[in-house]
Amino acid sequence: MSTEPLFKRLALIGFGLIGGSIARAARAQGLAGEIVATARSPATRARVQELGIVDRVVATNAEAVKDADLVILSIPVGACGPVAEEIAQHLKPGAIVSDVGSVKGMVLRDMAAHLPKTVHFIPAHPVAGTEHSGPDSGFAELFINRWCILTPPEGTNPAAVETLRAFWAALGAKVEIMTPDHHDLVLAITSHLPHLIAYTIVGTADELEEVTSSEVIKFSAGGFRDFTRIAASDPTMWRDVFLNNKEAVLEMLGTFNEDLSKLTRAIRRNDGEALFEHFTRTRAIRRGIVEIGQDSAAADFGRPVAKKAE
Ligand code: NAP
Repeated sequence: MSTEPLFKRLALIGFGLIGGSIARAARAQGLAGEIVATARSPATRARVQELGIVDRVVATNAEAVKDADLVILSIPVGACGPVAEEIAQHLKPGAIVSDVGSVKGMVLRDMAAHLPKTVHFIPAHPVAGTEHSGPDSGFAELFINRWCILTPPEGTNPAAVETLRAFWAALGAKVEIMTPDHHDLVLAITSHLPHLIAYTIVGTADELEEVTSSEVIKFSAGGFRDFTRIAASDPTMWRDVFLNNKEAVLEMLGTFNEDLSKLTRAIRRNDGEALFEHFTRTRAIRRGIVEIGQDSAAADFGRPVAKKAE
């Protein structure tokens, strides 16, 4: 690249699906003069070193953030507060500090409590992922044409917000700005509740004694397969999502239960008209999602097998 990189030094704390994808995409786009990474376990740090996609792997979070202009935490939501506390006194004044957590309200409160006023704290959530985790699961194209939602606290420096927006746009994402509470409500229905339903239905099928596990696997293409993919998502990440977005998820779950009762009643009463009307409405929603390019109409639901790391 002939132009100056957007950041002199990018520090990545956490190197799983999201951290690893940011590293790969930022390197491919030449967005940082130097990429420094760290992860909690020696095993992950050793693997990152082996992969050779960052400039330096360091052992501690404090070391990682030293002199960094952009610091991104790509770790479970519940760990963000303690890590913010740990790095607070090592941050360079003027640095942008961000995260990628799937919940924003709690993360913002947990991290803001520790971060100094001398840094620009701008939480972010790339709405992109797969059910895979770990340092080998990331890939540079993960964010292309996906949304990244920024939730800057009131009074955040607009220039810093624009710089982070430019970073995510260069990774391929479409960027939107929201309040944290609105983000959490929207994601509760579009992401968190679907995951809860998938975790439930796969667990229920597994517990049914009359359907042997081999039959569950054998006939899984009949709709169940997509639930199993979602239900394979990382347990730590999703435990933290539900514990940290409790209010919004419970609110959406209340509405969901009411709607489920309505459909249950329609089946019990042989009310074909109600069922047909409901399914027609939901089919139109699916078409809308395909039309705006958030998914493809391909039979594999537009999800080619996730690319493995280099
Ligand atoms: P991941 O692949 O499991 O990687 C998690 C990383 O966090 C690993 O490097 C892990 O270190 C580190 N970590 C775990 N617990 C930690 C702790 N207590 N303190 C410090 N580091 C810790 O997870 P991911 O899918 O990249 O998710 C990371 C974040 O992205 C989560 O906040 C999640 O909400 C958000 N997110 C995920 C998706 C998705 O689809 N997966 C999409 C959007 C946003 P070790 O490897 O050393 O254990």
